[in-house]
Amino acid sequence: MIKRAIYPGSFDPVTNGHIDIIERASNLFDEVIVAVSTNIEKSPMFTIDERKEMLSSACAHLSNVKVDGFNGLLVRYAESNGAIAIVKGLRALSDFEFEFEMALMNRRLERRIETVFLMTNAEYSYLSSSIIKEVVKFGGSVSGLIPPIVEEYLAKKLGSIESITAAGG
Ligand code: ADP
Repeated sequence: MIKRAIYPGSFDPVTNGHIDIIERASNLFDEVIVAVSTNIEKSPMFTIDERKEMLSSACAHLSNVKVDGFNGLLVRYAESNGAIAIVKGLRALSDFEFEFEMALMNRRLERRIETVFLMTNAEYSYLSSSIIKEVVKFGGSVSGLIPPIVEEYLAKKLGSIESITAAGG
């Protein structure tokens, strides 16, 4: 039986912290599906397709990693894909409480699926998609914290935002 895991998130956009978790999960499981949540969010920077494109390109070196989108209940998605585990990354104590609650609820909904937590790499413990967006918006450098493909997408996105503002839009 193939041991398949789901790594869910918003990935708006994917960071090197995410990539580190994906690489480590890909060593633990036969197959990892990185699942971009299409559940409605406040104000995403990237469309679901853009997030999937960045992920696929950043994970191209990992032959047992696939990228997909999902909505609705995560455990149902995991079950319908024959997964045995949900992988989550933990950065700080602040992640713990929410993740603990989610893991217990998911276990209640579907006993057969385990949640597996991987500790962040110390290098990326402060890194989140939102902090990347914040820094980039104000012109700070985030190189080394995101895959090169994400730098390209961010530059394009910010370029178009700037031209909209410059045009008075
Ligand atoms: P973010 O919090 O960066 O917006 P997501 O919702 O896309 O991220 O996160 C998906 C998963 O990746 C979550 O389990 C989250 O805890 C984990 N994660 C995010 N950033 C890191 C990081 N720097 N190190 C380890 N895990 C991370």
